[in-house]
Amino acid sequence: MFRPIQTIIDTTALQHNLAVVRQKVGHARTIAVIKADAYGHGLLHSARALSAANAFAVLELEAAVKLRDAGFQQPIILLEGFFSSHELDAINQYRLSTVIHHHEQLSMLSAYRGSNKLAIFLKINTGMNRLGFKPKPGNSALHALKQQEFIGEITLMTHFACADDAAEQQLVIQQLNEFSVLRAECGIHLPCSLANSAAILRYPQTHADWVRPGLLLYGVSPLPEKTGIEMGLRPAMTLTSQIIAIQKLSPGDRLGYGAQFTASQAMRIGIVAAGYADGYPRHAPTGTPVLVNGQRTRIVGRISMDMLSIDLQGIDHANIGSTVTLWGRGLPVEQVATAAQTISYELLAAISPRVPRCATP
Ligand SMILES: *Cc1c(COP(=O)(O)O)cnc(C)c1O
Repeated sequence: MFRPIQTIIDTTALQHNLAVVRQKVGHARTIAVIKADAYGHGLLHSARALSAANAFAVLELEAAVKLRDAGFQQPIILLEGFFSSHELDAINQYRLSTVIHHHEQLSMLSAYRGSNKLAIFLKINTGMNRLGFKPKPGNSALHALKQQEFIGEITLMTHFACADDAAEQQLVIQQLNEFSVLRAECGIHLPCSLANSAAILRYPQTHADWVRPGLLLYGVSPLPEKTGIEMGLRPAMTLTSQIIAIQKLSPGDRLGYGAQFTASQAMRIGIVAAGYADGYPRHAPTGTPVLVNGQRTRIVGRISMDMLSIDLQGIDHANIGSTVTLWGRGLPVEQVATAAQTISYELLAAISPRVPRCATP
């Protein structure tokens, strides 16, 4: 028997969301970002549902090889590039594309002779100060790449620190300006890629040649003021489990680890098979929303490793075996993220491998 917790992945929602993104970005080509096991949705069935994308982006070589072995022909981009020169043989063999963000990677490349042309995304640090080359005049990284005959197409790339935050528009514009200066200095036109989900929505002037949506594809909003549903997207993941025990508390009874919750009146509590080892956030406080048979109620007490407790007051039909929706259909993950003081990205990506992914249809 399986534990009753599972994620149900609506693959038609993924298709729909990709179509919405493509419609927003006009002629820009789309790199579907499917890192972190497609934001917890499962790599291969998500890639299949998103196969209308012009390219895919992942982090690990292993994920890229899985996609090739499954028959995907699109460019597959390694978002952090390679970490040792041992990876270059596989990158060559599987015709992968790679981000280059550091001089170490350039020197590994210059010592390598591949049989295929290697497509490069040259990452420019325009102010986020995480990865990338500073946009110096006569960019030496670009110069070094152009010297190498087995380098194929070079795309200039950058990443925004605050595209999601309307109050930080100035920083986005500043990063965009840095990027434009470098681009102008290149002399020839190189294709460019700047926009993540938030920039796709807020800054159409950043769409350029390639956009890199992640979160939007999963039907979730990167912006604080709106949910995915309110933007016409369809959340692709529903995380559900079941009630596996019922407790009846008397006034004054306390509940769970730390005895953090005290019943102020007689109440029924449902014990649900879902805990932080499944990826449900341990710091979700009393009051975090959940659905029981579609009806909204709340978490009470601390989240344990494998279980959590919910308030069944006023939900008399709830019993052992009742379906509990932790987020997804009927309960946007954005609302759970807000209640738990985190972001939807973290909730989706943290779903543990022990939770089965069930793709529909
Ligand atoms: C994860 C990632 C993205 C996608 O970000 P979203 O906010 O999910 O759209 C785009 N570009 C890079 C470099 C990333 O690492």
